[in-house]
Amino acid sequence: MLKKLFFNWKMNPTSPNEASSLFAEFVSLAQSQPQISLVVLPPYVYLSELNQQLQTSGVTNLKLGAQDLARHSAGAYTGQISGQMLKNMGCQYVLIGHSETREAYQLSHEQINQKLLQSLESGLVPILCVGHQSDKTITEINYPELSEQVTTALQNLPTEFKTEFYLAYEPVWAIGTGKTATNSIIEEVSQFLKQELAKLGLAKQVGILYGGSVDDVSIQELVKLQQVDGFLIGGASLKPEKFKTIAQVVANQV
Ligand code: PEP
Repeated sequence: MLKKLFFNWKMNPTSPNEASSLFAEFVSLAQSQPQISLVVLPPYVYLSELNQQLQTSGVTNLKLGAQDLARHSAGAYTGQISGQMLKNMGCQYVLIGHSETREAYQLSHEQINQKLLQSLESGLVPILCVGHQSDKTITEINYPELSEQVTTALQNLPTEFKTEFYLAYEPVWAIGTGKTATNSIIEEVSQFLKQELAKLGLAKQVGILYGGSVDDVSIQELVKLQQVDGFLIGGASLKPEKFKTIAQVVANQV
C-alpha cells in the first residue's frame, strides 16, 4: 500500500490568502496524484475556508485535520477548541501530543489520554505523536519512555473502538533540524511500537508514521522503510516544490 502523507503547517502561514494559495497547491497535487492520500493540518483559523475550498475542488484523496484539540467536550475552557467543533468544521484527523504541543503546554500523559478519548468520541482520527522527549541528540532509543507514552495515552479506549488510527514516531531531535533518524532505527522503533500495540490488542488497526525532517532529499531513503505506513511532514509542508517531490517519490514506490 502507498504511504500516506500528513502535512503539519504548524503556526504558518500568516494570512488567509497565503493559506488558500498554499492549499491550492495541495489540491493540484491531489488531482495529479490520485493514488496518494494526503492530509493537511493547518492552524484552526483557516479550517473553515480551506474546507470550502476542498469541497469546491471535489478531490477525495485530500483531507483536513487539526493540530490539537481540547481535553473536554464543551464548557468554560477559554481559548480551547473541542473535537466536535473540529468535526463540524470538516476536520477528519487530529494531531495529539506533538512534541511542540507537549512542551508548550507541559502536557501530562493523562491529559494526552483525555485528548485521545475526546478525538474518538468526536469521530476524529487521532495521530498520536510519540518520541524521545528527554533526549535531544542521541541515536540511542529511550524504549521505556516510548512505552510509557504509548500505554498511558491508550488507556480506557472504548471496547467497540474500530476507527482508523495512527501512531507517529517523531524523535524530538529530528524535528525541524534537518537530521533524520536512520532507516534501521526507524524500523527497530516501529517494530517495538507494534509490539506495544499488540499488547493492547491494537496492532492491526494502528498505522505507524515517521516524522522528523522528512523533505525532498531525505524521502529518497525514507521511502524504502518497510514498517511505516506514512510520514508526518512539518517544514516541507510550506514549500510546494518540496512536498510535490515527496509525493512523487512516494507515488513511484514499488
Ligand atoms: C512535525 O512538525 O511533526 C515535523 C516532523 O516537522 P519537520 O518535518 O519540520 O521536522
